[in-house]
Amino acid sequence: MSKPKVGFYWCASCGGCEESVVDLAEAILDVTAAVDFVFFPVAMDFKRSDVEAMADGAMAACMINGAIRSSEQRAMAKLLRRKAQILIAYGACSHQGGIPGLANLFDRQSILQTVYRDTPSTVNPGDIRPEASTRIPHGEVELPVLDEQVKSLDQVVPVDYYIPGCAPPVQLLKDALAAILTGRLPPKGSVLAPDKALCEQCPRAPSKPDNLLIDQFKRPHLERIDPEKCLLAQGFLCLGPATRGGCGWACINANMPCTGCLGPVSRTRDYGGAAMSALASLVNSNDEAQIAAMLETIVDPAGTFYRYGLPASLLFARAGANADKGGHEP
Ligand code: SF4
Ligand code: SF4
Repeated sequence: MSKPKVGFYWCASCGGCEESVVDLAEAILDVTAAVDFVFFPVAMDFKRSDVEAMADGAMAACMINGAIRSSEQRAMAKLLRRKAQILIAYGACSHQGGIPGLANLFDRQSILQTVYRDTPSTVNPGDIRPEASTRIPHGEVELPVLDEQVKSLDQVVPVDYYIPGCAPPVQLLKDALAAILTGRLPPKGSVLAPDKALCEQCPRAPSKPDNLLIDQFKRPHLERIDPEKCLLAQGFLCLGPATRGGCGWACINANMPCTGCLGPVSRTRDYGGAAMSALASLVNSNDEAQIAAMLETIVDPAGTFYRYGLPASLLFARAGANADKGGHEP
């Protein structure tokens, strides 16, 4: 009997999601024994034309990591959606827009200007910018066009499942592969991770007071952190109350606060809003000036509360931006 065909593709991504596949270690041998990789450009020499030649639905499953920011990424997302029976958004960028999604705080023009003109290391006296099409002696070369905004995968094509995390924890990947191979998958649209907040069952939860109140938010690189006590109870901005569990408390075990990479639980519509609301309820003051001073200690609110999910949030992009949030594209 032939093995199920699977694909793995990257869009606007850092490569960390591919590293998480390497984290399978020797278990990757079980995966390659159970499935045939038919598209995995970062690891194997497959071409886009190989995918185009496949029948629609030929792949049992395809995972896409990285956000969607260019004409090429949109085209690949649509192609792989057609070829895969199950399409999985893999990692925070694909799931919610991820760290590349913070680019939605700026418009495309100012990003290009910063990168190709204003950075101190840029020497570009002719102000040359990438063009979609350029004639060279050998003919016409084409580059993908940078979209106005960053999108999560499901803002471009319908997605069946999500594997969250930056990068996804190896256990979530193992569980997802087992579910795909046995056909024991939850309802479509599910995030393949526990639907519980990280604080539940956190090894440090017993040291988190029920009536916790905080006087200031501390930055982890500027203070000594008690390795046993709840980080939020020490004043560090730990986003465990608003974040989905399933990472095995990787950051907490490394004595670092949760930054929210697994995104919200299913009851939450806007992760950043939920995180801000959870923290606001802990502020130990009713005095407006004191509260404002305390909020000043959160140095980068957008990067703190929307670090992994600005495109998927209710905000989507900077106010006034020419936002094309759209639904799925035709
Ligand atoms: S989810 Fe994290 S690890 Fe994966 S591509 Fe995005 S930034 Fe990199
Ligand atoms: S706030 Fe952070 S450290 Fe405290 S219990 Fe929740 S996840 Fe654990």
